[in-house]
Amino acid sequence: MQTSVIGFPRIGTLRELKFASEKYFRNEISAQQLLDTAENLRKIHWTTQQSAGIDYIPCNDFSFYDIFLDTAALFNIIPKRYKELQLPELDTYFAMARGYQGKSGDVKALAMKKWFNTNYHYIVAEVEDDTDIQLVGEKPWNEYNEAKALGILTKPVIIGPYTLMKHCRYTGEKKLADFVDAVVSAYQDFVKKCEELEIAWVQFDEPALVQDMTADDIALFHRLYDELLPAAKTSKILLQTYFGDVRNIYPDLIKMDFAGIGLDFIEGKQTLSLIETCGFPKKKLLFAGLVNGKNIWKNHYEKTLKVLKALQEKENSVVLSTSCSLLHVPYTLKHEDKLSQTFISYFAFAEEKLEELHELSILADVADYSSHAAYQNNQKLFAQPRDCYNDAVKDRLAHVTEADYVRLPKRSERQALQKKEFGLPEFPTTTIGSFPQTKDVKANRSAFRKGEITRQEYEAFNKQKIADCVKWQEEIGLDVLVHGEYERNDMVEYFGEALGGFLFTEKAWVQSYGTRCVKPPIIWGDVFREKPITVDWSVYAQSLTKKIMKGMLTGPVTILNWSFPREDISIKESISQIALAIRDEVLDLEANGIKMIQIDEAALREKLPLRKSDWYSEYLDFAIPAFRLTHSGVKPETQIHTHMCYSEFTDIIPAIDDMDADVITFEASRSDLQILDSLREHHFETEVGPGVYDIHSPRVPSVEEIVKALNLMLTKIDREKLWVNPDCGLKTRGVPETDASLRNMVEAAKQIRK
Ligand code: GLN
Ligand code: ZN
Repeated sequence: MQTSVIGFPRIGTLRELKFASEKYFRNEISAQQLLDTAENLRKIHWTTQQSAGIDYIPCNDFSFYDIFLDTAALFNIIPKRYKELQLPELDTYFAMARGYQGKSGDVKALAMKKWFNTNYHYIVAEVEDDTDIQLVGEKPWNEYNEAKALGILTKPVIIGPYTLMKHCRYTGEKKLADFVDAVVSAYQDFVKKCEELEIAWVQFDEPALVQDMTADDIALFHRLYDELLPAAKTSKILLQTYFGDVRNIYPDLIKMDFAGIGLDFIEGKQTLSLIETCGFPKKKLLFAGLVNGKNIWKNHYEKTLKVLKALQEKENSVVLSTSCSLLHVPYTLKHEDKLSQTFISYFAFAEEKLEELHELSILADVADYSSHAAYQNNQKLFAQPRDCYNDAVKDRLAHVTEADYVRLPKRSERQALQKKEFGLPEFPTTTIGSFPQTKDVKANRSAFRKGEITRQEYEAFNKQKIADCVKWQEEIGLDVLVHGEYERNDMVEYFGEALGGFLFTEKAWVQSYGTRCVKPPIIWGDVFREKPITVDWSVYAQSLTKKIMKGMLTGPVTILNWSFPREDISIKESISQIALAIRDEVLDLEANGIKMIQIDEAALREKLPLRKSDWYSEYLDFAIPAFRLTHSGVKPETQIHTHMCYSEFTDIIPAIDDMDADVITFEASRSDLQILDSLREHHFETEVGPGVYDIHSPRVPSVEEIVKALNLMLTKIDREKLWVNPDCGLKTRGVPETDASLRNMVEAAKQIRK
């Protein structure tokens, strides 16, 4: 059986691409040096896959920032304001991704959104009325030729036309439909170029097919591919889907002229039954996504082989594949020196998944695989009991009652009480929690981790940082302060480390956006709080100021969504366990005099099922109550904040209000403010702080710009409900731009109050 990889991590084993890119952004290395690093990485990625015996190795899955943006740029979908900067190609690209402020001009970055149900972010390309969509780039073929020179024949990967069109923003009068012809001909040119180079297979990624599709969507898909497919005469087209099943369009797909179709058997609940009921054409290759591209647990060979055998029995030509790009898992287990072998034996990261693909493909070809060592070892692992249960946790969860999910009195009463309690000015200013994680902060943490300094020294340093930060915020004139989160490497890992049931890796980085990577903890067992986590820091910070200090926690849904979850119990059960642990922390903060507590649910939307029909029956029905469980025990005067890293919750506004927080801050500066109209329409009760500037970019917003944003917000939000804050935490920003931006923000709030 042959094997295929949909995409491979591009950031490098040890984040080499991140470090090189950041050096380039700081002008410490030349463009050529960055390009060389990238070339070297690609070489490693391809040869690694080749030596693992992978048959369909991707190219053009590499990206300096994001493959969606790469595809847009390939087809000249570049807004005028970036072209007008007249920068070299690479810098125009980075200007779209990160914004640009310099000699050539001042433009914000394009919007960034979560990629389907992952924590990866793509750049939302913008199509303007006069955007001339056509093939202009060379990247896929440069990479193809690069691999070919190494003796490796790869399959170029791009975002397919349907997903591209559905995920672009159309900023002018023209709509999607006005660009269909241009898109078709651009992709035809793409295919032609592949044929000129005698490329055997091309992969079109169409994850948008796993979302609910209307009749119009299906018609659009036909319109795009019915014209495109005949252009492919010698190159074969693999239609690659992932993140779910394609139930709306499956019967159509199998009749269309694709040489291969890639289906997700991990998240695609109906994939197998679709094949069983509608069949799969013998002439096509079925790329069966059976090796999980999103989670880090070893594949259970027995289960996978059963599916493969069933497919083979029906005489399907099967290629064994990952379920999605391996971009979403860490690169390798090789550098995990601290985890015991017992733990390690349960995991497979990207590199190890290559081995799994290889072993499974061999086992799939033999009649009696049960005598093979690879199979037997895997069976042994899954048969032995895993040390991961805690009876006290189970017991506590069993005793949670309906009342534990309800906070009293109702919010409108609390809001009145809290207004009195805090006496804040109109449009209170605050931040989302973290302050710049400067070199010294990271050095202090790393010295402590390596045992180079004592706990006392480590804490003393952080306390000094907190004191400086409190002074800094007072001087800037912010109303509600934060301690700065200097003790946190990451908002989830930090809590994971303090909770029982989690495991940590050292180098298991996963790309979140651009050069930003996260290191998700692994939920190994039942979760519980061993001891207070943040209380000392918050209490210390509050002792330094008369202003209100917000306590800062991460919510259960986000902790789960940004960890690698267990596969042996339900997500609901895991989230509830975490909610009880966070509840303990909330109550301890309150008992120690902290009057505002922010419980971040940065990632709440992330695991929203991709099909709307599943939203309330398979996710929100337990995620929202879990959040309420964390704070339902506090006094009426204690103000609960929450924060979300996105503003696309127009469609779940009632659910967000139902979290029953008192205040919510969210990202808004990189999006249009449509959300605010919807909030009004739904009589949204929670007070709101739509971010007034973008923290993902070093650009400093002017006072006028923020005043303008606030004035616009005021046309849509009651003045007594509006808070003023940045989009998100400031940890990735430098000190100078943070200082300048916050001062402008506070000044803007003052002007508005007048
Ligand atoms: N409180 C966190 C911070 O400020 C929130 C981060 C986030 O939303 N991603 O960093
Ligand atoms: Zn955020």
